[in-house]
Amino acid sequence: RLEESLKHFEKTKKLIPNCSQTFSKSYLQFSVGASPLFVEEAKGVYLKDLDGNTYIDYTMGLGACILGYSFEPVVSQVKKQLEKGIVYTLPHRLEAQLAELLTHIIPCAQMVRFGKNGSDVTSAAVRVARAYTGRDMIACCGYHGWQDWYIGTTTKSMGVPEAVKKLTLTFEYNNPQSLERLFEEYPHQIACVIMEPVGIEEPKDNFLQKVREITHKHGALLIFDEVVTGFRFSLGGAQDYFGVVPDLACFGKAMGNGMPISALVGREDIMKLFEDVFFSFTFGGETASIASSIAVINYMRENEVIAYLWEKGQKVREGILKLVEEKELEDVVKVKGYPVRFVVDFAGEDGLKLKTLFQQECAKRGVLFSGSHNISYSHRDEHIEETLRVYDQVLDILKYALEYDMVDELLEGEVIKPVFRKP
Ligand code: PMP
Repeated sequence: RLEESLKHFEKTKKLIPNCSQTFSKSYLQFSVGASPLFVEEAKGVYLKDLDGNTYIDYTMGLGACILGYSFEPVVSQVKKQLEKGIVYTLPHRLEAQLAELLTHIIPCAQMVRFGKNGSDVTSAAVRVARAYTGRDMIACCGYHGWQDWYIGTTTKSMGVPEAVKKLTLTFEYNNPQSLERLFEEYPHQIACVIMEPVGIEEPKDNFLQKVREITHKHGALLIFDEVVTGFRFSLGGAQDYFGVVPDLACFGKAMGNGMPISALVGREDIMKLFEDVFFSFTFGGETASIASSIAVINYMRENEVIAYLWEKGQKVREGILKLVEEKELEDVVKVKGYPVRFVVDFAGEDGLKLKTLFQQECAKRGVLFSGSHNISYSHRDEHIEETLRVYDQVLDILKYALEYDMVDELLEGEVIKPVFRKP
């Protein structure tokens, strides 16, 4: 049943471009006519749509809800803070409390500033790196948010001035030479290297160490964008997991379990520049989100959440891989990434159609995902077993559709759209 979702879709189309505030949550990433399009509420791992269907969710608010939706130990702290006020005329002592906690768990963190989204802190990092080095250019690798300096490097660069585009260069993951070449081509011009320390691909041959060496040799700063990896690979992010410490690092998503908060952390001598570098906004220091992050960190430390995420993520990931192998679908269905965050990808020209069919059949059986599978502390063995039962059936359907050339015929809604391409 998807009637309410579809009715609301028609209404929203007239009011909100793409019917969503976030590209990855929009109908472009879900099959119109075959997938739920709007949520009513969520608790634990269960997401309820407008029609009252419930799903075991694996996207978990784009990776933000690391402990689970509406997680009581966090919610109670947020509620307590709401009653005391949210934003004020003066900074609140909770800011220093969270800053101190972050300096304890993140290797590179000596000083801290907060933002609301990942994009806020990646952009602040780039600005302070430019101020520190007196250089204008940036080298990046990965996704870093919606602002001009980054999005201008992608296929979604409409509206970004050419002059701005010229200032950001890109290099390839696991290819240190591609970074070295940028420094040779633009000597003494690159302020910083900003990168996702790890995404879906594993770093090979000490890639992260090499990037740090190259960056420092050329007098630039190394910034790790840990918006995804923070609070997931390890509490202190991929820098802690891989033992490579950057100069600055950006955290977001999971740090508030869904509350809007992000953090830029790093070396004191660089961070001190924020006394003059302008990074200032009305909801900076908003205390309900800060309280949520303190609660998240305390809970994660006390309950060994990271070890749990690796164990349960491994169970789902291995389970899917085994099913794919049993059904001899390895050429088409690719399971890539780490247990704590992995993608199920569909190869070939018809990849998006296959993904749509897969999502459609999963949704019918009560399993929801879009981009990556982001395991949470609320995913229990019973959810994982149910999920694997669903994947078993859905992969059979996919195999059948491929064998009998029936993919198009089985699609009940529109094919999902590609996520924009990086260079
Ligand atoms: N960096 C990375 C690695 C991300 O995945 C994202 C968001 N997906 C961002 C930065 C931007 O964060 P936000 O969407 O919260 O602005």
